[in-house]
Amino acid sequence: MPTFRDLLATAKSQIREVDTAEAERLVAERPGAVVVDVREADEYEQGALPEAVHIPRGFLESQIENKMADHDAPLVVYCAGGTRSAFAARTLGELGYTDVVSVAGGFNKWKNEGRTWTTPRTLSPEQRNRYQRHLLLPEVGDEGQQKLLDAKVLLLGAGGLGSPAALYLAAAGVGTLGIIDMDVVDESNLQRQILHNLDRIGDRKVDSAKKTLTALNPDVNVVTYDVRLGADNVLDVIDGYDVIVDGTDNFPTRYLVNDASLLKKIPVVYGAIFRFEGQVSVFKPYEGPCYRCMLAIPPPADQAPSCAEAGVLGVLPGIIGSLQAMEAIKQLLDLGDPLVGKLLAYDALEDQPFRKFKLRRDPECPACGENAGPIVIAEYDELCMPHPIQPPS
Ligand SMILES: [Zn+2]
Repeated sequence: MPTFRDLLATAKSQIREVDTAEAERLVAERPGAVVVDVREADEYEQGALPEAVHIPRGFLESQIENKMADHDAPLVVYCAGGTRSAFAARTLGELGYTDVVSVAGGFNKWKNEGRTWTTPRTLSPEQRNRYQRHLLLPEVGDEGQQKLLDAKVLLLGAGGLGSPAALYLAAAGVGTLGIIDMDVVDESNLQRQILHNLDRIGDRKVDSAKKTLTALNPDVNVVTYDVRLGADNVLDVIDGYDVIVDGTDNFPTRYLVNDASLLKKIPVVYGAIFRFEGQVSVFKPYEGPCYRCMLAIPPPADQAPSCAEAGVLGVLPGIIGSLQAMEAIKQLLDLGDPLVGKLLAYDALEDQPFRKFKLRRDPECPACGENAGPIVIAEYDELCMPHPIQPPS
């Protein structure tokens, strides 16, 4: 029967060990090198190597492939003293990782030698409880939840689409939610705009939205813009946001936001609803098509009636707005296959209500095409062709 010493000696004979100086050099010089911390959470929280990916030894087999898809990336594995990391390095070799080293002496030696380390940001006990179901998902976990808390999403409109999107993004812990809307709450909104309620009739929609979202999750900083989005302010308003969720209902705003988002390189999660039908897509600047690639010119006004004219079933924006929230989170966490270059169409009256269409980038697109001129942010009329705000003198 082998002893622990025998097992450790065997493991060490099957892996490559480096000292702390060599580990530091590897991290600095090898492009794409990833540091993996296999200690327990309480050890990690008190201090870790900068940028370390934390996977406790007990979860290594089950979580490493979700966090490290590239099996040939250089991995520098450490624990407190070099024992657990030796076993971890051997396991990684068995899982097909080809370039793994274990740090002899581990974090204790590293720290004692005065090498750089940091105290990782961690979730509070309240946050740990609130986001527990996220933390259970290896694709989200602590790291993903921190990303969401750091993320900034701008919602265009606190109406039918903006309501469910804002509620789910706030519940998910997206740390900053910007909301732009210049409307007031009207009783006829309550059939679908679930951010608002009877007590808020006559209130600014952005104020009502802020009340609802803050009551749901105090982690969320709600930034309100009670203004009309125009050529004069669009670049300032969208600046610094990671994702824009478009819940507007008019063509001039969509074109304005499209052009501004291309300039700022911010992905736009597009949603639209009409009677019983809706559609969703993600316009990721210069990686996929933009709104103008899909719709170079808007349809004539009589073929594009608004909700106010055509009606909409109240649940429909709940479905489409929720899909937008999901696509926004996929963008923020780089999860799965986004709806970039795809249009997801939904028809509530069908028994198979979802259909997907390919959208291609248009090489002739006036905004993002190869020969497109510089983008000029300008006011748009109903035809959505840019024209100068002031006539040239
Ligand atoms: Zn385009």
